[in-house]
Amino acid sequence: MSATSQVSNEGVRLCPLCGASERKLLFRREQWEIVECARCSMVFIGSELAYDVQAREHDWADEHAKEFARRKQRQPVMLFFSRILRPLRPDTNGRMLSQTLRWARGGKLVDFGCGDGGFLALAAKHFDVTGIELSPKGVELTRQRLPASQILEGPVTEVAERELPAGAFDVVTQFGYIEHEWYPLAGMRAARRVLKPGGITVLKTPNHASWNRHIRGVDWCGYHIPGHCNYFTPKTLTELLRKAGFEPLPRPMADRLPTSDSLWMAARKPL
Ligand SMILES: [Zn+2]
Repeated sequence: MSATSQVSNEGVRLCPLCGASERKLLFRREQWEIVECARCSMVFIGSELAYDVQAREHDWADEHAKEFARRKQRQPVMLFFSRILRPLRPDTNGRMLSQTLRWARGGKLVDFGCGDGGFLALAAKHFDVTGIELSPKGVELTRQRLPASQILEGPVTEVAERELPAGAFDVVTQFGYIEHEWYPLAGMRAARRVLKPGGITVLKTPNHASWNRHIRGVDWCGYHIPGHCNYFTPKTLTELLRKAGFEPLPRPMADRLPTSDSLWMAARKPL
């Protein structure tokens, strides 16, 4: 780890949580630097990437395949076990739905970063659903599961502003979205804007405070570079929610275990 340094070059990404430029380098992979903000301890990719470059050159579907190949080469044994154990894991889309139903039973739901639409197809049994996705492949897959008119394509922050009315939704789900968002505060503010007063947002993102991250270091499964440009802890995600005007909701013990690689959180737009 290097000493804290002041950076002001062009292309440098300021802390997406507090705007500070002072940071500490945690590690480097290819041209990317993973840094920790010296002021608020937010962990993030320290340089910028435009939305169009992300969609064109770093589509998550391709990035996942690349990441999988990288791990296979580096850790064939771990990967072997993780593949064998996969059928024992709880169904992720099902878990996302039960986390959502804990706070809301129906109404209008918009999913930020709907991926392949697997969760939305399940949620459609309970909610009137809309999805937003940046990845053209994700949009194509989602449109095979749901009516095309319910899926909006493009950067979440821009599409939400342009196409969704303020105060119209009961729920905003963000499962595996906020770690991809180069402007996470803008993303969170977009969630707040489209929600009705008292509306709920439910989130899932890799937990940078997990024990596994400390043990595995740079080989931790949450590092997808540059796909994941923000790495939250319970503390920094709570701070992001508060800055965007949300009231974080109490987290059940089962969601607070440091053994989990995933960070689950929910928050309410004040009445
Ligand atoms: Zn900061």
